[in-house]
Amino acid sequence: MRIDILTLFPEMCETVFMESITGRAVKAGKLEVFAHNFRDFSDNRHRTVDDTPYGGGAGMLLRAQPIYDCFVHVCEQIGKRPHMIYMSPQGKTLTQRRVRELSQLENIVILCGHYEGVDERLIEKIVDEEVSIGDYVLTGGELPALVLTDAVARMLPGVLASEDAFVEESHYGGLLEYPQYTKPAEWMGRTVPEVLLSGHHANIAAWRHKQALLRTREKRPDLLAKREENGDE
Ligand code: SAM
Repeated sequence: MRIDILTLFPEMCETVFMESITGRAVKAGKLEVFAHNFRDFSDNRHRTVDDTPYGGGAGMLLRAQPIYDCFVHVCEQIGKRPHMIYMSPQGKTLTQRRVRELSQLENIVILCGHYEGVDERLIEKIVDEEVSIGDYVLTGGELPALVLTDAVARMLPGVLASEDAFVEESHYGGLLEYPQYTKPAEWMGRTVPEVLLSGHHANIAAWRHKQALLRTREKRPDLLAKREENGDE
């Protein structure tokens, strides 16, 4: 899979690409990630990318031209028109289900906004999907783009040690993950649940499923309601 990020801060993205799970996916040849500075595509000699909004109002807006030309450049590099995502607090909130779907695409381009956002005509012209990482406003789209890249990278086949690593995790099947424990078996007078020490795989699986349901009911009852709507077990 290839992800291209259009940003004013490519260095901020590149540092993260080489680390952690994204770095592992890149090193394993499962993922290519590129950051493009759309300032390099500005058609004026001061290389500006922003201007004041028509109708007045606080702040500056990103102009359509540099971003559009940068997008065309990426399309030419790839040899096709990729799925184009604009990270935006106005988008649909990212879910594990959407991450899984996006991880099946060959190419994604992610646009990081800044200032007050982007000229609406650019969104109309090239954006396929607006994605939010939550109902709050950040200064720029770089952190959201990196959140999306990380979430997608760990879903690519062969990136995590085993598929169980994400299949059992919170949100994959619409539940939160069961509680987990490591050594020692007793810590500060607190013991590990007996069943986990039994070596009985079926009992352990049943206990974990029950705990995942209990925990989801307690912490995120909204997820259980959604699961029922989807007809999941
Ligand atoms: N004026 C815009 C509005 O009210 O919708 C907010 C602009 S925000 C200060 C600047 C940029 O940060 C946005 O264009 C977007 O790319 C990014 N951003 C901010 N919050 C975000 C969020 N919750 N999810 C995804 N991207 C976000």
